[in-house]
Amino acid sequence: MNFLEERIARDGIVKEGNVLKVDSFLNHQMDIRLFDEIGAEFKRRFADAGINKILTIEASGIGIACIAARHFDVPVVFAKKSKSINIEGEVYVAEVESFTHKCKNNVIVSKKFLNPEDRVLIIDDFLANGCALQGLISIVNESGATVEGIGIAIEKGFQPGGRIIRNLGYHLESLAIVDSMNAEDGTISFREQ
Ligand code: 5GP
Repeated sequence: MNFLEERIARDGIVKEGNVLKVDSFLNHQMDIRLFDEIGAEFKRRFADAGINKILTIEASGIGIACIAARHFDVPVVFAKKSKSINIEGEVYVAEVESFTHKCKNNVIVSKKFLNPEDRVLIIDDFLANGCALQGLISIVNESGATVEGIGIAIEKGFQPGGRIIRNLGYHLESLAIVDSMNAEDGTISFREQ
């Protein structure tokens, strides 16, 4: 097991409804040493991609993206959730369905912060059905920038997002892929990588 898999096995809690709770170290209380290891690992895996910008989504991707950005020495842009229907024309918009909250949000990125010359690394904490990633990818494509890679901390491999995104041809790296988990006995098994 790698460092992240070990931490998930130790402190992750399996909830009903295919939800893995990692709020003691990843998305509520945040273990910054762990984030730093995650950032270093993304840098190692995307070292040759020429990344000049990191894109993530509000809220729980922001912490990991910021620490990773120190390793790449690039700025972070996060897509903001926006309820407003009349969104001004100076933003890129995508509709994203939330896996955990079961609602749809528009997410927006100001056109000022993504340009055709940008080589983007998309980062998020979780990959489940892939809706969040598809929204971010569509925003990058609309801007004319290039998705050079996608870095995910935890992929739930029994949900379809990873397969969909890899089939689209993107370079997707997930540091831990959960192949199965059981809410009754709390067991979690990881894919060999
Ligand atoms: P997707 O759009 O791929 O279905 O879901 C990705 C988003 O849903 C992530 O940004 C993450 O915030 C949230 N998410 C999905 N599955 C889980 C989970 O099992 N646990 C937690 N804590 N968040 C999840």
